Amino acid sequence: MALLQISEPGQSAAPHQHKLAVGIDLGTTNSLIATVRSGISTVLQDEQGHALLPSVVRYLPNGDVVVGHEALAQQSTDPVNTIASVKRFMGRSLKDIADRAHIPYRFVEGDEGTTKHLLLQTRAGLKSPVEISAEILKTLKARAEKSLGGELVGAVITVPAYFDDAQRQATKDAARLADLNVLRLLNEPTAAAVAYGLDNASEGTYVIYDLGGGTFDISILKLTKGVFEVLATNGDSALGGDDFDHRIYCWVLDKIRGGSSSFTPLSEEDTRLLLTKARQAKEWLTNNHEAQIVCRLSNGVLVDVTLTAPQFIELTQHLVAKTLSPTRKAMRDANLPLEDINGVVLVGGATRMPHVRHAVEEYFKQEPLTNLDPDKVVALGAAIQANMLVGNRSDNDLLLLDVTPLSLGLETMGGLVEKIIPRNSTLPIARAQEFTTFKDGQTAMSIHVLQGERELVSDCRSLARFELRGIPPMVAGAARIRVTFTVDADGLLSVSAHETTSNVEANIVVKPSYGLSEEQILTMLQSSFGAAENDKQARVLAEAKVDAESLLTAISAALKQDGDLLSMKGKQKIIAKMDVLKDLLLEGNIHAGSSGAIREATEALNAATEDFAARRMDASVSRALAGKNLDSLKI
Ligand code: AMP
Repeated sequence: MALLQISEPGQSAAPHQHKLAVGIDLGTTNSLIATVRSGISTVLQDEQGHALLPSVVRYLPNGDVVVGHEALAQQSTDPVNTIASVKRFMGRSLKDIADRAHIPYRFVEGDEGTTKHLLLQTRAGLKSPVEISAEILKTLKARAEKSLGGELVGAVITVPAYFDDAQRQATKDAARLADLNVLRLLNEPTAAAVAYGLDNASEGTYVIYDLGGGTFDISILKLTKGVFEVLATNGDSALGGDDFDHRIYCWVLDKIRGGSSSFTPLSEEDTRLLLTKARQAKEWLTNNHEAQIVCRLSNGVLVDVTLTAPQFIELTQHLVAKTLSPTRKAMRDANLPLEDINGVVLVGGATRMPHVRHAVEEYFKQEPLTNLDPDKVVALGAAIQANMLVGNRSDNDLLLLDVTPLSLGLETMGGLVEKIIPRNSTLPIARAQEFTTFKDGQTAMSIHVLQGERELVSDCRSLARFELRGIPPMVAGAARIRVTFTVDADGLLSVSAHETTSNVEANIVVKPSYGLSEEQILTMLQSSFGAAENDKQARVLAEAKVDAESLLTAISAALKQDGDLLSMKGKQKIIAKMDVLKDLLLEGNIHAGSSGAIREATEALNAATEDFAARRMDASVSRALAGKNLDSLKI
């Protein structure tokens, strides 16, 4: 039976009070905010009737900050102080931003303890991506409070499924700066599935095909008992609707140049004008058979060309085909036949193009779900989830859960990674594992937390290091160190270590110094699939080395302590076997196939010490019995 709740006198909530909760799609190009009103999820508009808020923030000379359309309009005249696409920099360091040549911002490396954040130099001073994103969130929050007429209880904010710990933490920090209570971070594809009510289905596997302005993401989700598991993600971070605009732009340029090589290059302003015209033409062609592109360039040339839908398809079909390659890879990773897909959801404005829809339908052999606005679907799903989390729905027993994008683990002896929480584990999750000490008298243990699928530390991403000190000195293998990994519902990790015989404890909330890029995650996953055989060999070798070294250490200590139990010949026999093993372990003698020889030599050494071990046992029993009479030993 459920427990009855008792509130403080005078503090009880009105029986049908509706708590104001919102879903926020904090996008690279545009952001949206939605809420559930009268049971229906709705995107909230600003006073001018815009649903989309361009994710652009401008710092003005008078100290003001503007966000959205007004900022976007000034992007070309004040590029350094007008920050667009800040989502790409969230939770990143300077070295994560590979291609900076085409980005107009002034980046600075911030130094906050051990973490190296990226900062942007603006006229308002140094700004972190978290602060810039917070401006977008503040604007959305103000829009919601104005339109809903009250204070928000909480928000669900969406993030890409491949966002790592640092990027998720940065998103949460931005929300905190904007004074928003984050109920949950939710994966974008999961939110899209929720918007279509797919979470109400009992089971199923769904594809979320998301083609936005500048990026393409494909996710395969499996729903089992209210839990969405990401079976696979893939994508192309440099492919989107903008590339279609660019194709039209090049086509127009070819037309007006008419093969003449003397045509002077376009000014930046003309380029921008033509790209805008190209984008309008593309969007027009979604519902019309032909589009006219008319404008006058600053050199007086009049552009007046007509682009037909079939011409547009011909110009851009290769871009549509380009989305199918990551799609195929994701299907391959998920290891699923096409027949197992129960539904395909389209997300992102560029999926309105008929030839994109057609290609998706042809590939998956089923009509995609399109009745929700592809620009709004993520925010709509987030709002539904927020509404459930604040308890506005009575049937809120079905709470969505997300999963970890990459495995989390610890470094163990020999540079190996022991996975504690496997990839795709449902969140929240806590897993513990016991470890022990390697050396006699070891009083500290270094805990190195890693993320990735590979077997070797050097191939995974280092997230954090900390030390457990004060372990009482014991023989190797006697201490019991319980390491617990906890990932909360937002995908944030904390790690604690506890020595159970002495109750010594240490813990850390993992705030990695910088995030992983989408490509890095994909590369890490792919290389783990490709390198599985090599990794296995490396693991076998590393384990053989660890066993050999620990046997050598133990025998050296035993010889020192009880060497006089052996005859000179017996001692020499053991030392000779030890030398063989030591030789095999020398840096220059080790190669990928060494594990067999090391194992054999370890076994030979073990066998050679059997008699010695028996003598030590006898000696230790005699020592224990010395001076005691038989009666005192009776039990
Ligand atoms: P998103 O990032 O999801 O807002 O998607 C923006 C992209 O969708 C831009 O490239 C837009 O030009 C494109 N888009 C928006 N509406 C349409 C439309 N009706 N037809 C084709 N593309 C569109």
